[in-house]
Amino acid sequence: WVKESGRSAFRFHQPRKDVDLLSRMRLDHAMRQALQEREFRLHFQPQVSLETGELIGAEALIRWRDPLRGDVPPSEFIPVAEESGFIVAIGQWVLQQAVAQAAAWLKKGLRVPVAVNVSALQFQQTQFVEQVAQALRAYDLPPSLLELELTESVLLRDAEEALHRMQALSELGVLMAIDDFGTGYSSLGYLKRFPIQRLKIDRSFVKGLPGDASDAGIVNAIVQMGRALNLQVIAEGVETDAQRDFLARCGCHEYQGFLCAPALETRAFEERHAQIAAQAQAGQAARAQTA
Ligand code: C2E
Ligand code: MG
Ligand code: MG
Ligand code: MG
Repeated sequence: WVKESGRSAFRFHQPRKDVDLLSRMRLDHAMRQALQEREFRLHFQPQVSLETGELIGAEALIRWRDPLRGDVPPSEFIPVAEESGFIVAIGQWVLQQAVAQAAAWLKKGLRVPVAVNVSALQFQQTQFVEQVAQALRAYDLPPSLLELELTESVLLRDAEEALHRMQALSELGVLMAIDDFGTGYSSLGYLKRFPIQRLKIDRSFVKGLPGDASDAGIVNAIVQMGRALNLQVIAEGVETDAQRDFLARCGCHEYQGFLCAPALETRAFEERHAQIAAQAQAGQAARAQTA
């Protein structure tokens, strides 16, 4: 299998031993059908301020229910889509859907900034900036309600090109975050050079909080560094009160995780949003009384 072009051009830089080529090709084929048959959905996970308890945004996460396979987790199909190149089409679909949903919420009076995961290959497309601009225009969404989550690998690939592209996106007015921060291996210099607004602490570091001394040290360091650089810092994968309290104490701005909610379908997200708003108000009223 050496073809580089065509409908499913698998490239194997790093042949994966866990899933064999044939099942990867089958999965890729099924994904292409799934996009046509509208089997993909976007779910939204609330992002909450550690200071006020208010909702500050939502991360859009793709979901796929295949008629035969059942729910296929993104960790299974996204790597295959990245390998075959189909991630570009999926990513474009996700971008459109997320922007459409944020715009629909805005029309209903809900201001929900939406964060979208962007794969390296998608980001490298020369049309990427134009696609973002087009989606914003098509749905008339204020650019500040869209955040792009990029991983360190995106920035590493071709740093100069990435910088240009990010500057163009920044001029559009969209926000950018570094996802899974701390898991890649890149120089910290890019934090200064790239026009980003937010760091997302990877959940592998949140897991051991507050007891694990290494995790606590790493998280503390990321938060202090982020604050010093004027970046918002959000922790992902927060599951317990103890984790949340630790993060609040060390000055982390925001969190997302099962403690608040998993990624939810639109209707359930709206219901949770209302609860979060009510809780934040009650908390603020209580604080005002004691103040
Ligand atoms: P990510 O961007 O780091 O997303 C966070 C993942 O952590 C999500 O998994 C989310 O459901 C999960 N998560 C959130 N809170 C908790 C928690 O408290 N505990 C635990 N154990 N997990 C939590 P998901 O949805 O399975 O997505 C996995 C990865 O797949 C994402 O990691 C992202 O890299 C990728 N992905 C998901 N949707 C998209 C997409 O639309 N486009 C692209 N390119 N990648 C996507
Ligand atoms: Mg993400
Ligand atoms: Mg993440
Ligand atoms: Mg992560």
